[in-house]
Parts: sequence; structure tokens; C-alpha cells
Amino acid sequence: MQGKIALEEHFAMEDTLSDLERRLSDNGDWADTRRRLLDIQKLRLEEMDRNGIEMVILSHTAPGIQELLDTGEAVDLSQRANDLLAEEIARHPDRFAGFAALPMQDPEAAIIELTRCIKDLGFKGALVNGFTQKDVPDSVIFYDIPEYRPFWAVLNEFDLPFYMHPRTSIASRSQHYEGHPWLFSSAWGFSVEASIHSLRLIGSGLFEELPKLQIVLGHLGERIPFDMWRLDHRIERQPCGYSLPQPMSYYLRNNFHLTTSGNFYEPVFNFTLAEMGVDRLMFSVDYPYEDMIEGAAWFDQLEMAKETRQKVGRTNAVDLFKLNLT
Ligand code: ZN
Repeated sequence: MQGKIALEEHFAMEDTLSDLERRLSDNGDWADTRRRLLDIQKLRLEEMDRNGIEMVILSHTAPGIQELLDTGEAVDLSQRANDLLAEEIARHPDRFAGFAALPMQDPEAAIIELTRCIKDLGFKGALVNGFTQKDVPDSVIFYDIPEYRPFWAVLNEFDLPFYMHPRTSIASRSQHYEGHPWLFSSAWGFSVEASIHSLRLIGSGLFEELPKLQIVLGHLGERIPFDMWRLDHRIERQPCGYSLPQPMSYYLRNNFHLTTSGNFYEPVFNFTLAEMGVDRLMFSVDYPYEDMIEGAAWFDQLEMAKETRQKVGRTNAVDLFKLNLT
């Protein structure tokens, strides 16, 4: 399919690579991933051309700003990352758009940067890498707490989505992973973090308060679609403090959109499409952690109606992110 749009596609800056480098440099293909994270205009564009991807919405890679303990540093680095991204987009505005990186360490500062990114830089929403740390390494702040309601209200006013991207959990809070480092990784822990954070947002009543607010989840929904029925079923039997007027699945189907990033498996795709509906699924790759060619070739060969492919591959993203494309 030509004209695809992809929206979980990452970049980095030299000075945001150090922590990633410590974690990933023993992976065999780190040198190539590093090169591709820093590149925007060459390798990336060539691969987009080869794979029928017309536009990507770029975002700063995980954990990025969210692992910075110093709020001032988080504010400074998110501004620099967003400015760099805006410059790169300006070179090819027909091929690139951007998500804001945000200093969630300070909800007020996050509002200011979000507003600047949307109003001045023309970004299409925000991508945040899960919970934020702050002040001390052993800190985990989720955004369902009351301090973040003003942030969500402002995002809701802009009528643009929030991409909840996973991150690695903190060892001091993850005794259940002890002795099995792979559990921390994108193989398993990523989905645990992002799904729990999303369920916390729902459970806090955020979408009762702001029913228009839209969240995007990657990796075909971080395993949530498989448990939608059971969530509703068990909460109905045993609410355990869940007191919202609607079941979980209602909020998932009205306030969440899912992407195919890094989950190129047809049975899961078909199941997710059936659970969420054709309006709430979008193509993505998760480049450069995944191969653009693999994600695109897989999507192109999936069996589905022409209109479904057009919606999932392109027009759902055009509508949700108000992209200036036909
Ligand atoms: Zn990603």
C-alpha cells in the first residue's frame, strides 16, 4: 500500500543517547540502531520511500525525558528535543510531523511545553514514555493523580491525542522480575508498564471528566484487548473499588486508539481489529527498533477489505492527528 502513515517512530539526540547506550550497547545491532535514531533525513526517508510510507510522526525515544531526576534538566532537554524536531520537520513537512516530548516531572511545565509545541511548532499531540521519575532514582509518578488533571484538561482542549509509550520499570520497584532481566525489557515489561498506566487513567475517572480525551497505545494495545472481556467480567463480580458508571471496555473503545507498532502477527491484528473496530487501529512500525520493511511488508500482505486497509494504513491517522493530507 502506498501512502501509509506511521506514528511510533523514534529519534534521539547525541546528548540523550548516553543512558540508552549503557543499556543497549551490548546488543549486536546497537551501532546500526544508534545511526538510525540520529538520522532523520537520509536513511529514514529512503526506507519510507521504499516501503510506501508517506509520512511519519516522529517522537523522542524512550525513556528520554521521563528518566531525568532534575526537573530543570527535563524542561531544558524537552525544549531542545522539540526544537530540533521542529527544524527537521521543516525540511520535509510533507513527510514528517512531530509529537511533543514533555517534562512530566512538573505538570505546569508540561502544560507550557505542550502549548508551545502545538501552537508554535505545529506538533500533532504528545508522546510520553510512561511514568516519570523525579528527584530520586526510586520514584515512579503515574499521571492519574490529581496534580495532572490540569495537564489533561489542556490537552483535551487542543483535541489532540497522547501517545502512552512504554518504558522499562525501575529495578527497586520490580522484585517480581528479579533474576530474569529479559522480563524488564520490551519483550514483556514494556507492555506491563503501559497497560497498567492506562488502566490507572481509566480507573481514576479521567475519561468521565474529559470524555473527548484520546490516548494512543502501541504494540496492538499492550495486551489489553485480550483481557477486555475478563476485566469487565471480574469487575462486575468483584468491583474492588472500581466505581465508574461504565465498564472498562467502554473507555477502551471510546478513548483509546491502538497501533501495530512492533507487533506484526496476523491473528493478534485480526483479534484487535474485531475488539476495537476499524476506526481505532492504525499502522505503525516502531522504527528503528523494528525494521520498516518487515512492518510495511507484513501490513501490505494482510488480508482485509480495501477500505479497512485505507483506514488503518492512512486515514484514521489523518483524522485523529488532523494531518494536512488528503
Ligand atoms: Zn517505540
